Amino acid sequence: MATLVLKFGGTSVANPERIQNAAKKVKAELDLGHKIVVVVSAMSGVTNQLVEYVRTITPSYDPSEYDVVVASGEQVTSGLMALALQQLDVKARSYQGWQLPFYSSDKHEKARIDEIGTDLMKDCFKQNITPVIPGFQGVTRPSKDGGNRITTLGRGGSDTSAVALAAALKADRCDIYTDVNGIYTSDPRLVQKAKKINRIAYEEMLELASLGSKVLQTRSVELAMNYKVPVQVLSTFETTVGSDLPGTFLIDEDAMMEKQMVTGLAHSRDEARITLTNVEDKPGMLARIFGPLAEANINVDMIVQAASDDGKTVDVTFTVPRADIVRATEALTNNKQTIAYKELQTNKDVVKISVVGVGMRSYAGVGQMMFKALADKGINIQVVSTSEIKISVLIEEAYTELALRTLHTTYQLDAA
Ligand code: ADP
Ligand code: ASP
Ligand code: MG
Repeated sequence: MATLVLKFGGTSVANPERIQNAAKKVKAELDLGHKIVVVVSAMSGVTNQLVEYVRTITPSYDPSEYDVVVASGEQVTSGLMALALQQLDVKARSYQGWQLPFYSSDKHEKARIDEIGTDLMKDCFKQNITPVIPGFQGVTRPSKDGGNRITTLGRGGSDTSAVALAAALKADRCDIYTDVNGIYTSDPRLVQKAKKINRIAYEEMLELASLGSKVLQTRSVELAMNYKVPVQVLSTFETTVGSDLPGTFLIDEDAMMEKQMVTGLAHSRDEARITLTNVEDKPGMLARIFGPLAEANINVDMIVQAASDDGKTVDVTFTVPRADIVRATEALTNNKQTIAYKELQTNKDVVKISVVGVGMRSYAGVGQMMFKALADKGINIQVVSTSEIKISVLIEEAYTELALRTLHTTYQLDAA
């Protein structure tokens, strides 16, 4: 008998029939004798709709009230799931984040988990009750000046709720049910030849998620890796359940039998490029550029410095989140005097394509293969960044699919 956390994403609970289908999977696991905690997302599309309501009332909203609104999507599903389970003769009840409590920081919209109360769930187990918990939601601790506010964990945060609950309960497994039957070598919506991966190292999934593979929220992978939670990603549309092990498992790198040079590809359209031209090449120059951006809390990702046309100064190119491009431009123009650049150019039509694999630690020439394959297709690389297990390039957005498919073939990832 194992303790399992089963998480159902937006498409898995998109309508009452899908919720009933998910409830059947929970029942099948209970029938195998397992103790189950169910975690649910909002019905697909609901969170987007709620965000839109908030923005229609005011684009400069109070983030704590935004969280009250958007957390409600998961509340609805948790009640519906408990009802669907009861219809299958499963004793089930929902607990909201504030009831557990699921304590988080007060950084509304992107709160970080602090501590999770497990007593209520453990009591449920003793009474043969299956608790249903809304993902995505947290609550701040009560404090002298109030506290006790509803929070949310950032878009896609139900994955993180599920893994955190699994860690807190020391669960034997956390199954993430979604609309694909596992993690693929690339987003299957863009690369038809993408292949399902049976086992992937936490480190690889962490890179893929943070480089744009939205199948799991990055922080859920971070937590799984730190607390060694066995996570499985699997399809809600198949008849098998997680205990039949049909999905993709996140495992320790040491447990990987065969380390491929490249395990998967990711892409992100969430970045924008900024170039400052003709900056004087002297000590402290980069600090003067990136200081104002850090003060404005803007993350800079890829950076490259190249000689300018005049041969005396340099052009500095870097990427920032696309959503921050206006603020970044403001921060830089406000400091134009001190940075002393000639022109500020921005470009939002870019995509970051990344190749990831723990095998890169031991293979040479991975980058060269990537650069050559893209060059052969006439795709120009604007910026490059690397780490031990990934290489990322920034290219024109129009080439996203061509680049992904080309690299997929180059690294021999195509499904047979
Ligand atoms: P959920 O609503 O269940 O949380 P998401 O939409 O967040 O589901 O995540 C599943 C989607 O992630 C898939 O439909 C797929 O298009 C996308 N995706 C991106 N990269 C990958 C990948 N490498 N493997 C599998 N799915 C991926
Ligand atoms: N409902 C939230 C979202 O759409 C959280 C989640 O589904 O993981 O972002
Ligand atoms: Mg998701």
